Amino acid sequence: MKPRATTMRAARAREAGLDVGRVIAIANQKGGVGKTTTAINLAVALAQSGRRVLLVDLDPQGNATSGLTVVREGETPASARKTIYDALVVGDALGDVVSEMRPNLFLAPAGGDLVGAEIELAMMEGRERRLRALLEAVALEYNYVLIDSPPSLGILTLNALVAADSVLVPMQCEYYALEGLSSLLATVRKVKTALSPGLEIEGIVLTMFDSRNRLSHEIAREVRQHFADKVFKSVIPRNVRLSESPSHGLSAIEYDPRSSGAEGYRALALEIVDRVEGAQRATENTGGTGHDA
Ligand code: ADP
Ligand code: MG
Repeated sequence: MKPRATTMRAARAREAGLDVGRVIAIANQKGGVGKTTTAINLAVALAQSGRRVLLVDLDPQGNATSGLTVVREGETPASARKTIYDALVVGDALGDVVSEMRPNLFLAPAGGDLVGAEIELAMMEGRERRLRALLEAVALEYNYVLIDSPPSLGILTLNALVAADSVLVPMQCEYYALEGLSSLLATVRKVKTALSPGLEIEGIVLTMFDSRNRLSHEIAREVRQHFADKVFKSVIPRNVRLSESPSHGLSAIEYDPRSSGAEGYRALALEIVDRVEGAQRATENTGGTGHDA
């Protein structure tokens, strides 16, 4: 993939002493394609590599929240504390709902209250910019902000896209994978035109790849033909550790670091870091301003 111009936010992050700052929305309006699995494992991989990471759970199902929460007896589960709803709708500061889950890894949790947010937000002023405003206030505290979005193109996903520098699209290696991708990309284009001119496609990541299945190979080839350098080289294999680990409140990277799923997500994290931080270094070396072209 080509390196690309860095954003205003990156320039500001550097001024604040952070060498990189990027907000990535993980989106695909299809459910079950690996958004949350990607959010959790990418967040942990980035945090373990020394980056400060904030994961924002924007799905009312709260799977990213529960998948990172080891509930011990007598402890308040993250979902019972303040959630992203309190920040988005009630008006609390984002810092009041964020807690540190692991070294370098912070979570803005989601709970069932977020179900009503679609409707409540719809009636609020600046409804599609609320998350963006919340993140602006904390952006300089994190190297990477990852936003896990719900399986729809409603107002929550819109908030994720408007708040983001880029979109990461997990795509399941199955027959109907390409279906629906065009409506996501059309939405991204609309958001770019109307609300957020700097929004980029970070890339498409193929998930649940089964090397023994001919269809997986065919889909992968087709997607690469279609989207060329927008597709990450790293492919996430179908791996049972990825589906087992959330019930333990752990990423696969922590649950079984040597599993193929953990390896896949570590490789993806490296690829993202290389591209994002490589592009930001390139801008610095050429004396660029860091502004979007
Ligand atoms: P989404 O957030 O897009 O709805 P999830 O990440 O929740 O998708 O994944 C859907 C289901 O598939 C979950 O049960 C998850 O554990 C499982 N899963 C996701 N990725 C993989 C994978 N690479 N291998 C095996 N199971 C996976
Ligand atoms: Mg999900």
